[in-house]
Amino acid sequence: MRSTSGAPLTRLGFDVGGTKILGVATSDGGAAAQKLREVTPAGADNLVDTLVAMAQELASATEQVTVGVGMAGLISTAGVVTVSPNLVGVDGATIGADLSAALGMPVSFDNEVNCAARWEVQHGAAQGIRHGVMVAIGTGIGGAFMVDGEVLRGANGLAGEPGHMIVEAGGRACPCGRRGCWETYASGSALDRLAVERLGPGITGPDVTAAARVGDVGAQAVLHEFSHWLALGISNLCVLTDPEMVVIGGGISEDWDLLAGPVDEHLGEMLIGRTAESRPAVVRSEAGELSAALGAALGGAEGDSAAFGNPAEVA
Ligand SMILES: [Zn+2]
Repeated sequence: MRSTSGAPLTRLGFDVGGTKILGVATSDGGAAAQKLREVTPAGADNLVDTLVAMAQELASATEQVTVGVGMAGLISTAGVVTVSPNLVGVDGATIGADLSAALGMPVSFDNEVNCAARWEVQHGAAQGIRHGVMVAIGTGIGGAFMVDGEVLRGANGLAGEPGHMIVEAGGRACPCGRRGCWETYASGSALDRLAVERLGPGITGPDVTAAARVGDVGAQAVLHEFSHWLALGISNLCVLTDPEMVVIGGGISEDWDLLAGPVDEHLGEMLIGRTAESRPAVVRSEAGELSAALGAALGGAEGDSAAFGNPAEVA
């Protein structure tokens, strides 16, 4: 495996989440030719070792590659993991720079939902969209805002973290150390907890969606309650940014067909100044849980301006 000097043959992209790492190999960035999944280890060194092993499995030693990494958490424009509440032992780490040193080639490094939004605009559900919101719902909730066709970065590169906007003052404790954050009510982990609270010990979010799919009334009631929290956060994002479209990514997007109706119903009650016709479309990511890894692969190939390293700088 070596850094490309001409046209890239294989673009590797990684999505590092709270529970799993998804890796893809793609030639054009549009679809994954290969994919890999590993459990996210604790600690920055173990994480870099796992990414190196995955890169070596996805590309042969002689293949020309580019590498991009998207990671859950607040990633500064300098490539520092400022804080990543759902990963263990990575705060303050420079995962992109460390992986670059380990592989001996440039690595782009960005927030994983910024990566997903990039993919949705170039290849997915948001093609042609200039004002959009991406919400990735997995272990936690990540986000990205598209404003006038550009991903909103903010003063420090930390913009777009709706999972930690507070939707219930003094509410549930969040891994970030505060209380009442949106992701404690509307993430995949939150659905797991709601399932136990409403239906009993050992019941998981996937159990609920499977039961709702075959008409279980109790499971459908849990999803209706869960969709209230989803819509509450989405409505807050809409009053702030007036998007044309909201794209839902992450693991929850796999079951968006079950949630879209109830969420739209709640949004109809929550959104001000919008009619049924002018409400933003809330749609599922076209690549589902792969959009962040594919978007990271695009970043690696393009040497994104906010990314660590630049393919032109390392031979
Ligand atoms: Zn939080």
